[in-house]
Amino acid sequence: MIPLFKVGMSADAGRLVSDVLSSGYIGQGPRVEEFEDALRERIGNPNVVTVNSATSGLHLALHMVAGAGGPGGADVSVPGEVLTSPLTCTATNWPILANGLRIRWVDVDPATLNVDLTDLARKITERTRAVVVVHWAGYPVDLDRLSRILDDAERTFGHRPVVIEDCAHAWGSTFGGRPLGNHGNIAVFSFQAIKHLTTGDGGLLVLPDPQLAERARLLRWYGIDRDRGQSFRCEHDVAEYGFKFHLNDINAAIGLANLAEVDGRVARHQDNAAFYDRELKDVAGIRMTERADDRQSSFWLYSLLVQRRQAFMDRLAERGIDSSPVHHRNDTHSCAREYRQLLPGLDSFADQVVSIPVGWWVTDTDRQHIVDVIRGGW
Ligand SMILES: *Cc1c(COP(=O)(O)O)cnc(C)c1O
Repeated sequence: MIPLFKVGMSADAGRLVSDVLSSGYIGQGPRVEEFEDALRERIGNPNVVTVNSATSGLHLALHMVAGAGGPGGADVSVPGEVLTSPLTCTATNWPILANGLRIRWVDVDPATLNVDLTDLARKITERTRAVVVVHWAGYPVDLDRLSRILDDAERTFGHRPVVIEDCAHAWGSTFGGRPLGNHGNIAVFSFQAIKHLTTGDGGLLVLPDPQLAERARLLRWYGIDRDRGQSFRCEHDVAEYGFKFHLNDINAAIGLANLAEVDGRVARHQDNAAFYDRELKDVAGIRMTERADDRQSSFWLYSLLVQRRQAFMDRLAERGIDSSPVHHRNDTHSCAREYRQLLPGLDSFADQVVSIPVGWWVTDTDRQHIVDVIRGGW
């Protein structure tokens, strides 16, 4: 079976981990600092803070800008709302509920599988504390247009909801020629097992300013400043309570090994995607997604809209090819029942989304086979 996902693990990871294991220190220490320095350089933004998962990163981001940690100028007498996409991993949305915030679903654009920005603009109100967007498959949301929508909201409501970008699919994606994490928002990456860049489990917050980064650095570990050695030597006052969301040196060592190879892996995802773009564009029963000149996807997934999805997936499976919708819509779960609303865009294609193998492990022979099978019909 040609798999849809594979763990991208450097052959050096074992050695780097072994060094940590025998060093006598396995918590958050020098390897985490080294990993953060490397990430800082790679993204081109100094305000990076590693955490133990993207889910923790999203939880922390929402806590700081929209939840109990302070709404940043919003009227707190009304319950805070977060606009978000229903087509994503549940990890995007359950942290909203965990922070005591209300979900307001934004419709999904069938052309991009990202939030429909026209619907998003319409749904911002004085209660909107934050806006969460997902770069589906790695294809960036139009961040320029989103920024203009927020400018309008700020003029209308007197405060600017913070944008949180869920970049879990999008390590290596660029918008306007710059890596994600450089567009004035909070960006959250995942280093989970099957993401482009893995640390085993882990995540990254990229903050828009040093103050927020410093605050995130404190809150990821109880609100205690580790740099001052407060933790063990003496009791110091914790001004703002925090969490246990930090990364450790074992995971950071894995990340350092994999960071050295990730560019090559992402490039192969992109090359396979370009092949499918050429070879599948005229196939009846398939709708391709948008490609705009101002952004580059990292193609963690290669997603299509297909007629008769189950038959399509069965046909591929018969020929040794894995495929899957990957993430199912979040708005139909019982725990989010009270937020349900009509989403005509998503309703129109939710049963058609499917992803086919596109990753670094897909060989020239594999991808030609995949194209031949799809061209053969289902
Ligand atoms: C993987 C994923 C997450 C969660 O990442 P973790 O690091 O596992 O917490 C969040 N959002 C999306 C869209 C994902 O695909």
